[in-house]
Amino acid sequence: MKYSGQVAVRSSTGGLIMPLRSEYDRQLLFEHITDRVRRDRWVDVRAGRQHWRATLIEPDSHVPCSTCGEALTIAHASAGAQLCTRCRMRALH
Ligand SMILES: [Zn+2]
Repeated sequence: MKYSGQVAVRSSTGGLIMPLRSEYDRQLLFEHITDRVRRDRWVDVRAGRQHWRATLIEPDSHVPCSTCGEALTIAHASAGAQLCTRCRMRALH
């Protein structure tokens, strides 16, 4: 069962509530997170009981995704794991 409801996105420049009910909402949410991380360097995301911080990774730092091992450009970090955007999207349930 995938999470459905609202998602709170917050960074140093402010907060936003986004709906999350469809696959399209999911695409928009992660596009928004990506844009905001590029601008503000980090974003806190809360979706129901799940929460994580998305942080911009320096291009040459070679931090791997905890799930797929791909080099991260944005790290979605929670509970000691750092996921790439694709794995974080898949893990959102
Ligand atoms: Zn990954």
